[in-house]
Amino acid sequence: MSRRLPTAVASLALVPLLALAALTPIQPTRAQETPAAPASASTAPALPKETRGVWVVRTDLTGPAAVAGVVEHARKNGLNTLFVQCRGRGDAYYAGGLEPRAQSLEKRAAPEFDPLALTVEQGHAAGLKVHAWVNACYVWSESKAPVAPEHLVNAHPDWLAVDRTGRRRRVGDPEVFVCPGNPEARAHLADVCRDLAARYELDGVQLDYIRYADEKLCYCGGCLERFQEYLAEHSPARVGGVPANATRAQRVALVQRNAWSWSQFRREQVTSLVREIRDAVKGARPAALLSAAVVAWGPFPGDFNRSEAYVRTGQDWYGWIRLGLVDAVAPMTYQTGQAGFKSWINSVARHHRDFPVWFGIGAYLFGPESAAAKIQTVRQAGGQGWVLFSYTSVTRSGKDDAYLRSLKARVLSRQSATAR
Ligand SMILES: [Zn+2]
Repeated sequence: MSRRLPTAVASLALVPLLALAALTPIQPTRAQETPAAPASASTAPALPKETRGVWVVRTDLTGPAAVAGVVEHARKNGLNTLFVQCRGRGDAYYAGGLEPRAQSLEKRAAPEFDPLALTVEQGHAAGLKVHAWVNACYVWSESKAPVAPEHLVNAHPDWLAVDRTGRRRRVGDPEVFVCPGNPEARAHLADVCRDLAARYELDGVQLDYIRYADEKLCYCGGCLERFQEYLAEHSPARVGGVPANATRAQRVALVQRNAWSWSQFRREQVTSLVREIRDAVKGARPAALLSAAVVAWGPFPGDFNRSEAYVRTGQDWYGWIRLGLVDAVAPMTYQTGQAGFKSWINSVARHHRDFPVWFGIGAYLFGPESAAAKIQTVRQAGGQGWVLFSYTSVTRSGKDDAYLRSLKARVLSRQSATAR
């Protein structure tokens, strides 16, 4: 949920990819996908009529007073859902987890302080839904290595994603991502989410950074080998005599000759990861919702299959909805202008009518008047909710709630403010 590229930059970045997509020779049909039945109405957990959420970044959860402030600001101002960041960079903003306690939390709070437990307890007492917000594939961004030897960046560097030249992401890179196709990394992510769902009375788990960092990843040995197997299974003629024990160079060449299949393969890696996490979460807490904060950069390109989410990051979130792998999505529609914002809202709402879509509002980029206009756009399109990014911005890190009060006056009548 971190801040995104401005719309203009994001749109420019898309151009060469679209050109590449247009040049690739074979476009297999989407009929290969078998839609699964969506969760039945009887098992679907109850949702507020309108989800009115806020993303609470981990740095705002520094102690019991800060948690009490989050809950109070939300309750007073008619919000009904908190997305509490509890995994930032492969670390834990909660107690007793499978990953090391976050360094910033260790420095600033008592060792027994559990921001997630306290937010769940106080949030529920105030009538709020509380979802654990988990950054999945993004695992480090500091220039120095994590102090904890068991942090996965130290303990499992072989899980980190690799570019085409063979260079692995490493400490010091701004975006250290794990490979979403690595079976051990996947099992670990599923374990972390299972543990959260099992130990906390969560209303849901929300995945963020559930994708590749960009189109340059991942060319690790495992991905290249799995791609060759994938091609042999789906379009054997296209393997073109490359032997089963091919060299890295041969496999990279195979990728380059089969750009569309490679792009489809990458999406399937991420989709499989979502499926594994879903199974883990539902196994531990069947009533918890699995949702994802998903990429919605730039203006809607007219067809989701041309979006940056789909093309660059391997995030086929329209597919996840179709396959019943998520119970809700929160597209990060942080466009500042109404036109760009509306292009996504209308397309998504039209395609996924009756599915819970909670549209992200980039409140860090504009004032409450503009946020209110966007919320009205969501309502007019039949959207089921919205989420403000972020608590830091709309309360100046908990200092005041002027933004939220102004927003409440604009979008919440007395009646709708109390309806949950
Ligand atoms: Zn890989």
